[in-house]
Formats: sequence, C-alpha cells, structure tokens
Amino acid sequence: MTALPTAVPAVFLDRDGVLIEDSGYPHREADLVLLPGATEAVRRLNSLGYTAVIVTNQSGVARGLFTEDQMHAFNALLVRRFAARGARIAAVYACPFHDEAEDPRWFHPDHPDRKPNPGMILRAIAEHHIDPARSFLIGDKASDLEAAKRAGMPGFLFEGGNLDHFVRELLGG
Ligand SMILES: [Mg+2]
Repeated sequence: MTALPTAVPAVFLDRDGVLIEDSGYPHREADLVLLPGATEAVRRLNSLGYTAVIVTNQSGVARGLFTEDQMHAFNALLVRRFAARGARIAAVYACPFHDEAEDPRWFHPDHPDRKPNPGMILRAIAEHHIDPARSFLIGDKASDLEAAKRAGMPGFLFEGGNLDHFVRELLGG
C-alpha cells in the first residue's frame, strides 16, 4: 500500500530587502549581497521541515533594465549561493510584468502574479504540494503581506536586522 504524499509546510520569501540587499533592481552578480542571517534563516526553516519558496516582483524586465534571461540567471546564482551554505530554496517565482512596461510583451494592467496579487503563491502551492494552512510569508512591503493574505496565509513584515533572529522569534524561540 502506497501512502499519499503529505502536503508540506512552506515559507514564502520575498527576495529584495529580505534575502538580499535591495539596491534598486538588483540583477548583476555584483548586486547579489546577502542580508544578515538570510542563509541561516533558510537553513533553520529547512531543518524544521519548511519548503522555502521565493516570490519576487521583477518589473525591471518590463522596464527594460534587464532581460528575462538575466533575471533567471541571477535567481539561479542566488539559489546556488544559498545551497553552498546549506540552505535549500526549492523554487523561485518571479513576475516580470508591469503596467508601465516599455516592452509590450511584459505589459499587463494587473497581472495575477504581481504582488499584491497571490498568483505566484497559489501556483507554488499547487506545484510543490504545499499545505497553505501550515505556511506563511515574510516580506518587507505591504504588497507582500497583502499577497499572503489573498492566498489565505499569514504574512510577516521584516523591517531589517538579522533575518535568522526574526525567524527564530516568529517561531517562538
Ligand atoms: Mg522586497
């Protein structure tokens, strides 16, 4: 008899301003500056059974500041940096669409993926067998928390400092 896989808890993480420095549309290797406690926080969450998923608005693509390929390459580099420190990020969802896009391919008046819309979170829940009832989000903007709310899970505002300390307090110890 084969048991059905149990849905897993997840932590949804905004990227810029939570995991890496928000230097303004970071996309080059030199822009990849990990914030204090970021890898430790993900490692801690992994060890507690949380699948870590990044959900990030990347309107820099729509604004013509960098290409979609550059965005994916930068995200892949970030995932490797974390992995090298024993922190596993299971997936990265990035939304390149914006209502002021330079390039019509990336124009959308209100894309379902662009936070505060919950599209990326809902897709991740379906694609990674995530239990939303045991999941939460950490972001540095009101739009992050609103996306969590619309996806039916709590969102917590990270206002700087050490992310691992923040996570430890959130989890009560
Ligand atoms: Mg942010």
